[in-house]
Amino acid sequence: MSRTEVFLQKVNDLGGGGAILRAPESLFYLSGFSGGEGTLVITRDARCLLVDSRYTLQAKAEAPEYEILPYNADISDILGAVTSVCYEGDFLSASAFERLKQKVSGKTWVDVSEALLMLRKTKDTMELNAIANAVALADDAFSYTVSRIKKGMHEYEVAALLEGYMRREAGAQPAFDTVCASGFRSALPHGAASDKTLQDGDFLTMDYGCLLNGYRSDITRTVVIGKAESWQKEIYNIVLYAQGLAENAAKGGMDASALDQIARDAISNFGYGEYFGHALGHGVGLAIHEYPTVSPKSMHKIEYGDVFTIEPGVYLPDRGGVRIEDMLYATPDGHAILTKSTKEFMEIQ
Ligand code: ZN
Ligand code: ZN
Repeated sequence: MSRTEVFLQKVNDLGGGGAILRAPESLFYLSGFSGGEGTLVITRDARCLLVDSRYTLQAKAEAPEYEILPYNADISDILGAVTSVCYEGDFLSASAFERLKQKVSGKTWVDVSEALLMLRKTKDTMELNAIANAVALADDAFSYTVSRIKKGMHEYEVAALLEGYMRREAGAQPAFDTVCASGFRSALPHGAASDKTLQDGDFLTMDYGCLLNGYRSDITRTVVIGKAESWQKEIYNIVLYAQGLAENAAKGGMDASALDQIARDAISNFGYGEYFGHALGHGVGLAIHEYPTVSPKSMHKIEYGDVFTIEPGVYLPDRGGVRIEDMLYATPDGHAILTKSTKEFMEIQ
């Protein structure tokens, strides 16, 4: 069954007769179109991709299952007798949804966002390969960059080394705003690279990834500039230990919340529980944050084919923090760790 056929079953389960989709991830996931701007109109009888003239040729090449129509084609016409239509409540702004309802009147509307996220949660072999390639490129960027980091560099220069490598080697873009946070800034879990310079005794947290052939990677490594103090070794080892426990336990069929609990308990047992305030991990794929959510309140199960991060951290305000993040996927009897970069404690002289 094609992805569109599987999706249509979900639409049917929700009581819908068709769907209108505009999120770039949905366009790519269902049709293969990577242009980012367009509208899918899908019913039992119709598979249409509406794009403006800039994208016509690209859409024809990338979305062979779909009929390519001009962006202003009559959507009501395509929907025909369908009365109940699925849309993406998570993506459409309130005003865009109002405009859609005016254009396509007399329908009942069903939000299909959750169903789409659940479909995308589990990756097929092609997706796993694409993600593995994006992770491998990020790994290479790490070894390239750590050998070039020097005291006195700005954080943004480190970010440029990471991003520049991935663009030069494979034409990849950053998967999200690269985090390079040093010294006291490393206590900010998402400190984007600033003009702060690297100083002796700083932790340096690099959290970055790339977007390659539609799929993303996400990795974090933390190193020390110069000589580490004992508190730095201590929290590094605690985070590493907690991550290892969670990674070893990860397998298909388990509750994502239970996985979170393993790392959280380990950090709490060392007395640092209050300094680990975020979720343990998240799914990664077409988007940087997708299902499964690996958090205390998650209702998700880890299933075979899910790709997700395990990224515990300890952040001591005004002093510094450590996060270590790998990407994994769940196999039938366990897991595979995609991220290969070293996690050895590193002091950069
Ligand atoms: Zn990350
Ligand atoms: Zn992450």
